[in-house]
Amino acid sequence: MPGDLIDGKKIADDVRSELKGRIAELATRGTVPGLAAILVGEDPASRLYVKMKGKASEEMGLAHWTVELPADASERRLLDEIDRLNADPKVHGILVQQPLPPQIGVDAAVSSVDPDKDVDCFHPTNVGLVLIGRPRFAPATPAGVVELLLRSGNSPDRKDVVILGRSNIVGKPLAALLMQKARGANATVTVAHSATRELAAHTRRADILVAAMGSPRFVTADMVRDGVVVIDVGINRIPDPKAKSGSRTVGDVDFDAVRRKAKAISPVPGGVGPMTIAMLLSNTVRAAEMATPS
Ligand code: NDP
Repeated sequence: MPGDLIDGKKIADDVRSELKGRIAELATRGTVPGLAAILVGEDPASRLYVKMKGKASEEMGLAHWTVELPADASERRLLDEIDRLNADPKVHGILVQQPLPPQIGVDAAVSSVDPDKDVDCFHPTNVGLVLIGRPRFAPATPAGVVELLLRSGNSPDRKDVVILGRSNIVGKPLAALLMQKARGANATVTVAHSATRELAAHTRRADILVAAMGSPRFVTADMVRDGVVVIDVGINRIPDPKAKSGSRTVGDVDFDAVRRKAKAISPVPGGVGPMTIAMLLSNTVRAAEMATPS
Protein backbone atom coordinates (compact mmCIF):
# COMPACT_ATOMS: atom_id res chain seq x y z
CA MET A 1 0.00 0.00 0.00
CA PRO A 2 1.48 3.38 -0.96
CA GLY A 3 1.72 5.91 1.87
CA ASP A 4 -0.86 8.63 2.41
CA LEU A 5 -0.47 11.81 0.43
CA ILE A 6 0.06 14.90 2.60
CA ASP A 7 -1.90 17.42 0.56
CA GLY A 8 -0.20 20.79 1.01
CA LYS A 9 -2.69 22.57 -1.18
CA LYS A 10 -5.65 21.48 0.91
CA ILE A 11 -3.88 22.18 4.22
CA ALA A 12 -2.75 25.60 2.95
CA ASP A 13 -6.38 26.35 1.99
CA ASP A 14 -7.41 25.51 5.56
CA VAL A 15 -4.75 27.82 7.01
CA ARG A 16 -5.83 30.61 4.67
CA SER A 17 -9.53 30.14 5.56
CA GLU A 18 -8.64 30.42 9.24
CA LEU A 19 -7.10 33.84 8.55
CA LYS A 20 -10.31 35.30 7.14
CA GLY A 21 -11.86 36.09 10.53
CA ARG A 22 -8.71 37.88 11.66
CA ILE A 23 -8.58 39.91 8.46
CA ALA A 24 -12.26 40.89 8.93
CA GLU A 25 -11.57 41.87 12.54
CA LEU A 26 -8.66 44.07 11.40
CA ALA A 27 -10.98 45.71 8.84
CA THR A 28 -13.31 46.79 11.66
CA ARG A 29 -10.31 48.62 13.13
CA GLY A 30 -9.50 50.26 9.76
CA THR A 31 -6.49 48.09 8.88
CA VAL A 32 -5.87 46.22 5.65
CA PRO A 33 -2.77 44.02 6.07
CA GLY A 34 -0.18 45.01 3.46
CA LEU A 35 2.72 42.98 2.09
CA ALA A 36 5.55 44.51 0.05
CA ALA A 37 7.96 42.34 -1.93
CA ILE A 38 11.29 43.56 -3.28
CA LEU A 39 12.55 41.80 -6.38
CA VAL A 40 16.08 42.52 -7.54
CA GLY A 41 16.94 41.37 -11.08
CA GLU A 42 15.28 39.08 -13.56
CA ASP A 43 15.61 35.58 -12.11
CA PRO A 44 12.52 33.82 -13.55
CA ALA A 45 11.94 31.59 -10.51
CA SER A 46 12.13 34.60 -8.14
CA ARG A 47 9.76 36.53 -10.39
CA LEU A 48 7.30 33.61 -10.32
CA TYR A 49 7.49 33.28 -6.50
CA VAL A 50 6.86 37.02 -6.02
CA LYS A 51 3.94 36.85 -8.44
CA MET A 52 2.44 33.89 -6.58
CA LYS A 53 2.79 35.68 -3.23
CA GLY A 54 1.11 38.78 -4.71
CA LYS A 55 -1.75 36.73 -6.16
CA ALA A 56 -2.28 34.91 -2.86
CA SER A 57 -2.33 38.24 -1.00
CA GLU A 58 -4.89 39.61 -3.41
CA GLU A 59 -7.13 36.55 -3.05
CA MET A 60 -7.15 37.09 0.71
CA GLY A 61 -7.97 40.80 0.42
CA LEU A 62 -4.50 41.89 1.52
CA ALA A 63 -2.81 44.92 -0.03
CA HIS A 64 0.42 44.11 -1.84
CA TRP A 65 3.15 45.91 -3.71
CA THR A 66 6.13 44.69 -5.69
CA VAL A 67 9.19 46.90 -5.84
CA GLU A 68 11.38 45.92 -8.78
CA LEU A 69 15.05 46.87 -8.88
CA PRO A 70 17.46 46.19 -11.76
CA ALA A 71 19.97 43.33 -11.46
CA ASP A 72 22.83 45.86 -11.12
CA ALA A 73 21.16 47.85 -8.31
CA SER A 74 23.61 48.72 -5.53
CA GLU A 75 23.23 47.48 -1.97
CA ARG A 76 22.61 51.12 -0.92
CA ARG A 77 19.71 51.36 -3.34
CA LEU A 78 18.10 48.24 -1.90
CA LEU A 79 18.63 49.43 1.69
CA ASP A 80 17.02 52.78 0.79
CA GLU A 81 13.95 50.95 -0.54
CA ILE A 82 13.79 48.85 2.62
CA ASP A 83 14.02 52.04 4.75
CA ARG A 84 11.17 53.57 2.77
CA LEU A 85 8.97 50.50 3.32
CA ASN A 86 9.98 50.31 7.01
CA ALA A 87 8.60 53.86 7.40
CA ASP A 88 5.35 53.27 5.47
CA PRO A 89 2.48 52.50 7.91
CA LYS A 90 0.43 50.81 5.15
CA VAL A 91 3.16 48.18 4.77
CA HIS A 92 3.01 45.57 7.55
CA GLY A 93 5.22 42.91 5.97
CA ILE A 94 8.36 43.25 3.87
CA LEU A 95 10.04 40.43 2.01
CA VAL A 96 13.28 40.65 0.06
CA GLN A 97 13.17 37.85 -2.50
CA GLN A 98 16.33 35.73 -2.54
CA PRO A 99 18.70 34.99 -4.20
CA LEU A 100 20.17 38.48 -4.38
CA PRO A 101 22.81 39.50 -6.95
CA PRO A 102 26.43 39.21 -5.77
CA GLN A 103 26.98 42.94 -5.14
CA ILE A 104 24.29 42.86 -2.41
CA GLY A 105 24.97 41.24 0.95
CA VAL A 106 22.14 39.02 2.18
CA ASP A 107 23.03 39.80 5.81
CA ALA A 108 22.84 43.56 5.21
CA ALA A 109 19.47 43.19 3.47
CA VAL A 110 17.77 40.97 6.04
CA SER A 111 19.16 42.98 8.96
CA SER A 112 17.73 46.20 7.51
CA VAL A 113 14.12 45.05 7.53
CA ASP A 114 12.25 46.32 10.62
CA PRO A 115 11.96 43.18 12.80
CA ASP A 116 8.25 43.96 13.30
CA LYS A 117 7.76 43.76 9.50
CA ASP A 118 10.08 40.80 8.93
CA VAL A 119 7.42 38.33 7.78
CA ASP A 120 10.05 35.96 6.34
CA CYS A 121 11.58 35.77 9.84
CA PHE A 122 15.13 36.23 8.54
CA HIS A 123 16.21 39.15 10.77
CA PRO A 124 18.81 37.99 13.33
CA THR A 125 16.61 39.17 16.21
CA ASN A 126 13.68 37.12 14.95
CA VAL A 127 15.89 34.10 14.28
CA GLY A 128 17.10 34.33 17.89
CA LEU A 129 13.54 34.55 19.20
CA VAL A 130 12.68 31.35 17.32
CA LEU A 131 15.69 29.62 18.83
CA ILE A 132 14.72 30.50 22.40
CA GLY A 133 11.12 29.44 21.80
CA ARG A 134 9.46 32.89 21.85
CA PRO A 135 8.86 33.51 18.12
CA ARG A 136 7.54 36.88 16.92
CA PHE A 137 6.99 35.35 13.48
CA ALA A 138 7.11 31.76 12.33
CA PRO A 139 9.78 31.17 9.67
CA ALA A 140 7.51 30.51 6.68
CA THR A 141 8.83 27.32 5.09
CA PRO A 142 9.83 25.58 8.36
CA ALA A 143 6.49 26.53 9.95
CA GLY A 144 4.78 25.17 6.84
CA VAL A 145 6.57 21.85 7.33
CA VAL A 146 5.44 21.70 10.97
CA GLU A 147 1.82 22.47 10.00
CA LEU A 148 1.90 19.73 7.35
CA LEU A 149 3.04 17.24 9.98
CA LEU A 150 0.54 18.30 12.64
CA ARG A 151 -2.47 18.65 10.38
CA SER A 152 -1.82 15.28 8.71
CA GLY A 153 -1.77 13.58 12.11
CA ASN A 154 2.00 13.02 12.17
CA SER A 155 3.09 14.93 15.23
CA PRO A 156 6.89 15.16 15.64
CA ASP A 157 6.50 14.76 19.41
CA ARG A 158 9.04 12.17 20.67
CA LYS A 159 9.99 11.25 17.10
CA ASP A 160 13.44 11.01 15.51
CA VAL A 161 13.45 13.68 12.82
CA VAL A 162 16.25 13.87 10.28
CA ILE A 163 16.56 17.08 8.25
CA LEU A 164 18.67 17.04 5.10
CA GLY A 165 20.05 20.57 4.67
CA ARG A 166 21.26 23.26 7.08
CA SER A 167 20.42 26.51 5.30
CA ASN A 168 19.36 29.61 7.22
CA ILE A 169 16.05 29.53 5.33
CA VAL A 170 14.97 25.93 5.89
CA GLY A 171 17.20 23.46 7.76
CA LYS A 172 18.40 25.51 10.73
CA PRO A 173 15.11 27.25 11.64
CA LEU A 174 13.20 23.98 11.17
CA ALA A 175 15.55 22.27 13.60
CA ALA A 176 15.00 25.17 16.03
CA LEU A 177 11.19 24.78 15.80
CA LEU A 178 11.17 21.01 16.16
CA MET A 179 13.57 20.78 19.11
CA GLN A 180 11.53 23.10 21.35
CA LYS A 181 10.16 21.71 24.59
CA ALA A 182 6.60 22.43 23.47
CA ARG A 183 3.48 20.80 22.12
CA GLY A 184 3.79 20.07 18.41
CA ALA A 185 7.58 19.96 18.70
CA ASN A 186 9.56 17.88 21.20
CA ALA A 187 11.41 15.95 18.50
CA THR A 188 14.93 14.54 18.57
CA VAL A 189 16.48 16.32 15.63
CA THR A 190 19.45 15.45 13.43
CA VAL A 191 20.56 17.99 10.84
CA ALA A 192 22.59 16.46 7.99
CA HIS A 193 24.55 18.29 5.30
CA SER A 194 27.26 17.83 2.72
CA ALA A 195 29.89 17.02 5.36
CA THR A 196 27.74 14.31 7.00
CA ARG A 197 29.35 10.87 6.94
CA GLU A 198 27.15 7.88 6.07
CA LEU A 199 24.09 9.96 5.32
CA ALA A 200 21.90 6.91 4.65
CA ALA A 201 22.63 5.53 8.13
CA HIS A 202 20.97 8.67 9.50
CA THR A 203 18.05 8.75 7.06
CA ARG A 204 17.29 5.05 7.64
CA ARG A 205 16.55 5.57 11.31
CA ALA A 206 14.32 8.62 10.79
CA ASP A 207 10.67 8.43 11.88
CA ILE A 208 10.24 11.70 9.98
CA LEU A 209 12.55 12.73 7.14
CA VAL A 210 12.60 16.28 5.77
CA ALA A 211 14.55 16.77 2.54
CA ALA A 212 15.70 20.35 1.87
CA MET A 213 18.82 20.03 -0.24
CA GLY A 214 17.96 21.18 -3.75
CA SER A 215 19.11 17.89 -5.24
CA PRO A 216 16.55 16.25 -7.56
CA ARG A 217 15.25 12.87 -6.33
CA PHE A 218 18.28 12.40 -4.09
CA VAL A 219 16.41 10.40 -1.43
CA THR A 220 15.84 6.89 -2.76
CA ALA A 221 13.76 4.03 -1.31
CA ASP A 222 16.81 2.24 0.10
CA MET A 223 17.57 5.33 2.25
CA VAL A 224 14.34 5.17 4.26
CA ARG A 225 12.74 2.71 6.63
CA ASP A 226 9.23 1.26 6.34
CA GLY A 227 6.63 3.57 7.83
CA VAL A 228 8.65 6.77 7.50
CA VAL A 229 6.88 10.13 7.14
CA VAL A 230 8.53 12.24 4.44
CA ILE A 231 8.28 15.98 3.85
CA ASP A 232 9.92 17.06 0.59
CA VAL A 233 10.91 20.74 0.55
CA GLY A 234 13.03 20.60 -2.61
CA ILE A 235 12.07 22.40 -5.79
CA ASN A 236 14.14 21.31 -8.79
CA ARG A 237 13.60 21.70 -12.54
CA ILE A 238 14.66 18.65 -14.55
CA PRO A 239 14.52 18.12 -18.33
CA ASP A 240 11.38 16.34 -19.53
CA PRO A 241 11.00 15.93 -23.29
CA LYS A 242 7.33 14.98 -22.80
CA ALA A 243 6.47 18.28 -21.10
CA LYS A 244 5.41 21.24 -23.25
CA SER A 245 8.00 23.47 -21.58
CA GLY A 246 10.69 20.78 -21.93
CA SER A 247 11.13 20.51 -18.17
CA ARG A 248 9.23 19.73 -14.99
CA THR A 249 9.46 20.29 -11.27
CA VAL A 250 10.50 17.50 -8.90
CA GLY A 251 11.48 17.43 -5.25
CA ASP A 252 14.51 16.02 -3.45
CA VAL A 253 12.78 12.65 -3.01
CA ASP A 254 12.27 9.82 -5.48
CA PHE A 255 8.55 10.16 -4.84
CA ASP A 256 6.96 6.98 -6.27
CA ALA A 257 9.53 4.54 -4.88
CA VAL A 258 9.73 6.20 -1.46
CA ARG A 259 5.94 6.45 -1.17
CA ARG A 260 5.70 2.64 -1.39
CA LYS A 261 7.60 2.38 1.91
CA ALA A 262 6.24 5.50 3.59
CA LYS A 263 3.38 5.98 6.03
CA ALA A 264 2.82 9.43 4.51
CA ILE A 265 4.61 11.73 2.09
CA SER A 266 4.22 15.26 0.73
CA PRO A 267 4.42 15.72 -3.06
CA VAL A 268 6.24 18.31 -5.16
CA PRO A 269 4.53 20.38 -6.40
CA GLY A 270 1.56 20.64 -4.02
CA GLY A 271 3.32 20.02 -0.71
CA VAL A 272 5.48 22.55 1.11
CA GLY A 273 5.25 25.26 -1.58
CA PRO A 274 1.62 26.28 -0.92
CA MET A 275 2.30 26.12 2.82
CA THR A 276 5.18 28.59 2.58
CA ILE A 277 2.82 31.11 0.99
CA ALA A 278 0.05 30.45 3.53
CA MET A 279 2.46 30.98 6.43
CA LEU A 280 3.75 34.18 4.86
CA LEU A 281 0.18 35.50 4.69
CA SER A 282 -0.37 34.42 8.28
CA ASN A 283 2.75 36.36 9.34
CA THR A 284 1.54 39.43 7.45
CA VAL A 285 -1.79 39.31 9.28
CA ARG A 286 0.11 38.94 12.56
CA ALA A 287 2.30 41.94 11.70
CA ALA A 288 -0.82 43.99 10.95
CA GLU A 289 -2.37 42.92 14.27
CA MET A 290 0.79 43.97 16.13
CA ALA A 291 0.72 47.36 14.39
CA THR A 292 -3.00 48.01 15.01
CA PRO A 293 -4.08 49.40 18.38
CA SER A 294 -7.02 47.44 19.84
P1 NDP B 1 20.64 25.69 0.12
O1 NDP B 1 21.35 25.41 -1.16
O2 NDP B 1 20.84 26.97 0.81
O3 NDP B 1 21.01 24.52 1.15
C1 NDP B 1 21.06 23.18 0.75
C2 NDP B 1 21.51 22.34 1.93
O4 NDP B 1 21.54 20.98 1.52
C3 NDP B 1 22.91 22.69 2.43
O5 NDP B 1 22.93 22.66 3.84
C4 NDP B 1 23.79 21.60 1.84
O6 NDP B 1 24.90 21.25 2.64
C5 NDP B 1 22.81 20.44 1.80
N1 NDP B 1 23.19 19.49 0.75
C6 NDP B 1 23.24 19.72 -0.57
N2 NDP B 1 23.63 18.61 -1.22
C7 NDP B 1 23.84 17.67 -0.27
C8 NDP B 1 24.26 16.31 -0.29
N3 NDP B 1 24.54 15.68 -1.44
N4 NDP B 1 24.35 15.63 0.87
C9 NDP B 1 24.04 16.23 2.05
N5 NDP B 1 23.63 17.52 2.14
C10 NDP B 1 23.54 18.23 1.00
O7 NDP B 1 19.12 25.44 -0.19
P2 NDP B 1 17.77 25.93 0.58
O8 NDP B 1 17.75 25.42 1.96
O9 NDP B 1 17.53 27.35 0.32
O10 NDP B 1 16.70 25.13 -0.28
C11 NDP B 1 16.71 23.72 -0.35
C12 NDP B 1 15.67 23.27 -1.36
O11 NDP B 1 14.39 23.66 -0.89
C13 NDP B 1 15.81 23.91 -2.75
O12 NDP B 1 15.39 22.97 -3.72
C14 NDP B 1 14.86 25.08 -2.71
O13 NDP B 1 14.38 25.42 -4.00
C15 NDP B 1 13.76 24.48 -1.87
N6 NDP B 1 12.95 25.48 -1.17
C16 NDP B 1 11.61 25.32 -1.23
C17 NDP B 1 10.77 26.19 -0.58
C18 NDP B 1 9.31 25.95 -0.65
O14 NDP B 1 8.55 26.83 -0.32
N7 NDP B 1 8.87 24.75 -1.04
C19 NDP B 1 11.29 27.34 0.17
C20 NDP B 1 12.73 27.37 0.27
C21 NDP B 1 13.53 26.46 -0.40
P3 NDP B 1 26.09 22.32 2.98
O15 NDP B 1 25.51 23.27 3.98
O16 NDP B 1 27.16 21.47 3.55
O17 NDP B 1 26.43 22.98 1.68
